[in-house]
Amino acid sequence: MRVLVQKFGGTSLATSEAREHVLKHITRELADGYRLVVVVSAMGRKGDPYATDTLLDLAAANGNALPAREKDLLMCCGEIISAATLCSLLEAKGISSTVLTGAQAGFRTDAHFGSARILDVVPDRIFKEFEDKSVVIVTGFQGESASGDFTTLGRGGSDTSATALGAALHAEIVDIYTDVNGILTADPRLVEDAKPLAYVSYAEICNMAHQGAKVIHPRAVEIAMQAGVPVRVRSTFSDEKGTLVANPEGFKDVQAGVVDRFVTGIAYVGNVTQIMVESGEGSYKLQLQVFKAMAENDISVDFINVTPTGVVYTVFDYEADRAADKLRELGLSPKILTGCAKVSVIGGGINGVPGIMAKIVEALAEKDIQILQSADSNTTIWVLVHKEDMVQALRALHKKFELHI
Ligand code: ADP
Ligand code: MG
Repeated sequence: MRVLVQKFGGTSLATSEAREHVLKHITRELADGYRLVVVVSAMGRKGDPYATDTLLDLAAANGNALPAREKDLLMCCGEIISAATLCSLLEAKGISSTVLTGAQAGFRTDAHFGSARILDVVPDRIFKEFEDKSVVIVTGFQGESASGDFTTLGRGGSDTSATALGAALHAEIVDIYTDVNGILTADPRLVEDAKPLAYVSYAEICNMAHQGAKVIHPRAVEIAMQAGVPVRVRSTFSDEKGTLVANPEGFKDVQAGVVDRFVTGIAYVGNVTQIMVESGEGSYKLQLQVFKAMAENDISVDFINVTPTGVVYTVFDYEADRAADKLRELGLSPKILTGCAKVSVIGGGINGVPGIMAKIVEALAEKDIQILQSADSNTTIWVLVHKEDMVQALRALHKKFELHI
């Protein structure tokens, strides 16, 4: 049996016109002889009646009094509505389909409500449904804990549902349908001349996703990579093939496409705050104190630079006040700089290539953009800039590395 997994994101299901495009992709693959598992997200974006953000607002009513377990129950409704809507459309066209919830599709998770981790996928029911249905629609982003409670996988979780099913079903490919023409060299909403990439390796897109490129969730890529399932990121609104994500060894074309470039793309995380704590005597103790305080209060830290004169790191803006309070409680005097953005230059071949940092500094200096902090690894160079410089920084770096060509 040839199985294909298709995942449709929020905008792909938002309007009846969009759903006609979805239908087109489904009928084309059915005609090609595939059995289809179609993973759906909640319909629409913030402000739309059944969108995830709308449900989040509902959940936040009454001063966030809703317990985590019941909140997950509420959050699961968006995908259920979306799945039933698609089912009715398919049936109306004479295509036999059925809807399975995350639990029914076999997603076993831990009980960490709001960001549950998949422990196992047992897709027996899907195979059984294939005996007389050609399309099995699965509600994305959800699973079931050992005690039978609904759980959700966190933001971007439908991508993870799709690749996890792809792995469990030994699917030929997982198609992630969205509102852009694949993975681009930068977010096209901010960098207009961003260019679609025909092929990327799992590692490249995993790095980009971790650095904020939200076109696909990094966890979804990791699962696909472990299972070796190819993933294609493509547009619901066109017939173009988008971006193929696969192991370079398996695809000669991928190999050529990947090896030839040293910078793959530019990504960003907006809304971060820089925290600087200077040390007097005994810097070792200071570092321990600071990071222990953050860990004990469940504040995630990033972009850490430790030097003999102190420590610098970032937290998300929404956690900045809490982080500063905890440090002051320890008798420290942190310097807080809110409204920063982390901009990353990502590539497979940055390692050891001379002059890349010089190019970054040059690109930003030409636009009078101040670098607040920087760091690098063998695949990524990060710079921290003021939030108001972020878009310009993205565009300047994109141009400097000639990614538009
Ligand atoms: P979906 O609802 O289909 O999951 P998302 O909004 O989660 O859609 O992801 C698609 C969006 O990701 C695009 O509209 C685009 O603005 C954004 N994006 C960010 N970085 C990139 C990138 N490098 N390539 C493509 N899209 C990107
Ligand atoms: Mg998404």
